[in-house]
Formats: sequence, structure tokens, C-alpha cells
Amino acid sequence: MHSPIHARCHVCGQPVGTTHHSFDRRIETLGSSRRDGEPVTTCNIVFDESLYLYCSEACWDVHQAEIVRALALTQTYPAQGFVTPCCRCGKPVDRTEPYVDYSVTATRIADEGILVGYCVDDRDFAVLCHDCEAPEPVLDEDVDYASDRTETTP
Ligand SMILES: [Zn+2]
Ligand SMILES: [Zn+2]
Repeated sequence: MHSPIHARCHVCGQPVGTTHHSFDRRIETLGSSRRDGEPVTTCNIVFDESLYLYCSEACWDVHQAEIVRALALTQTYPAQGFVTPCCRCGKPVDRTEPYVDYSVTATRIADEGILVGYCVDDRDFAVLCHDCEAPEPVLDEDVDYASDRTETTP
């Protein structure tokens, strides 16, 4: 049985299958818009990097404790909202400004002629304030105004 993606589980070393978990570091901003008159929260992910892959939820659970220690987190899975406490120091994080978010995503890869990744589960794991981890500036090559900017290099 051939797996369409050639990656191994960070925990057990098995090749990850078509359904796998990924631990991602993101830079994102929350905003709001209205849909049918109801306010809805929108999430703009400007940067997304997959740090680790896991073959299963069980392997993610094993590594989770290590990540909590490595990131020095005091809490995980923050509540939804525009202001949420930093998962390391507890300071409020204004999520309408770019911030660092760690998320766990479950993806199912389907072979439909081309490989398509379906996100089947996506949850915030930790949100950090700028003092704990500042989001680096993200360059967006597609933004037109970038060419109008004049850069002065010392
Ligand atoms: Zn595994
Ligand atoms: Zn903090």
C-alpha cells in the first residue's frame, strides 16, 4: 500500500497515512464581518508552517506534553475571542493584530487525480503574546503596493 505523502510520524517513525495530524506554527489576525446580519469572526492566516507530523491522534498526544514543556506553556486551547490570555504569561493578546498561534490540524489527503488535502479538524493549541513570541514581518510578494515602497538601506 503506497502512501501519497512521503513523511514519517515524528513520534513513532511510521510513514503518515492519508489522514494525519500536523502541528503548525501560524501568524494570523482575527477580524470580523457580517453574514446574514450576524457578526462572524474571520481568521486571516498570513503564515503557516508545519512543524511536526503525526500518524495519529495518539502520537500527537504523546508529543503534546513535550511541546507544552518546550514552549513553556501554562495553558493550552485558548477560548475563542478577540482578546485571549497568552498561553505562557497570561497577558491579554489582542488578536486583531498579527500574533503567533500554534495549532493542531487533522488532514485527510484524497487522491482525486490530483492530491487534495481536506482539513477535517483544526484547533488552536496556544496563542502567544508579542513579549513571549513576536510575529516576524511577513512579506507578501503579491501585494502591489510593495513595489511602490522605497527601501533605504544603510
Ligand atoms: Zn505515530
Ligand atoms: Zn506572553
